[in-house]
Amino acid sequence: MREVVEHYEGVVPNNRKEISALKGVGPYTAGAILSIAYDLPEPAVDGNVMRVLSRVLLIKDDIAKPKTRTRFEAILYELISKKNASFFNQGLMELGALVCTPTSPGCLLCPVREHCRAYEQGVQTELPIKSKKKKQQQKNMIALVIKNELGEFLIEKRPDKGLLARLWQFVNFETEKLEQEKVNIEKEISNFLKIDGFESLGPLQEVEHVFSHLKWHIHVYELKVLSAELELSTSQRWVQKQQIEDYAFPVSHQKIIEQQLKMEE
Ligand code: SF4
Repeated sequence: MREVVEHYEGVVPNNRKEISALKGVGPYTAGAILSIAYDLPEPAVDGNVMRVLSRVLLIKDDIAKPKTRTRFEAILYELISKKNASFFNQGLMELGALVCTPTSPGCLLCPVREHCRAYEQGVQTELPIKSKKKKQQQKNMIALVIKNELGEFLIEKRPDKGLLARLWQFVNFETEKLEQEKVNIEKEISNFLKIDGFESLGPLQEVEHVFSHLKWHIHVYELKVLSAELELSTSQRWVQKQQIEDYAFPVSHQKIIEQQLKMEE
């Protein structure tokens, strides 16, 4: 409101560009104000409107995707009444709120039933299509900063395909047990790594890394191999501290390197 007073002498702007630049005004509110207050042929698309249009026009685009809203806006620019945009938009909103409801649309009383393609095909309750947001997976990981008697570090290359493909990392594995209070970390490590002798130098740090679908809680431990008998796989190698920076690591493991280098200074 202050912006309207300060920049527009108290009058809400009557075009989409300026009204959309006001704080808190999204595309739906902009369209609602422009059509209802100024009777301009501007679409106001929200979930209700997308549901009605998906059904009436039998559109199967996923309404959870931003581009679907854009598509509906484009359609409405064509369809909207140029003579009475206010009534058109209010009618569409009311239809969605009172008649064409999500689970039990009142088709028998619906004023647009004759034009409704979903009703004609009997698929009104199957629309709109809305994909569910994937729940973010949480994973507990143990990462090991393994050193040998020469002061070298063990690193390994991730597989050629999949998440963070071909980047380098410290040896790590998933674990479920970190939730419990007393985890026998040495036992966890022995289960995963076949080493004859090692000395656990204890926990180093905890690192969190968030991907769009996944969150890693990485518990980092430092380990010293006592015998040089550790059999390396083809993707693993020992490197000197100064060489580590020649390898591309994912952000989460770069944090481990930073901490490690700090400690060694
Ligand atoms: S006929 Fe049924 S599905 Fe079609 S718009 Fe009307 S209430 Fe919605």
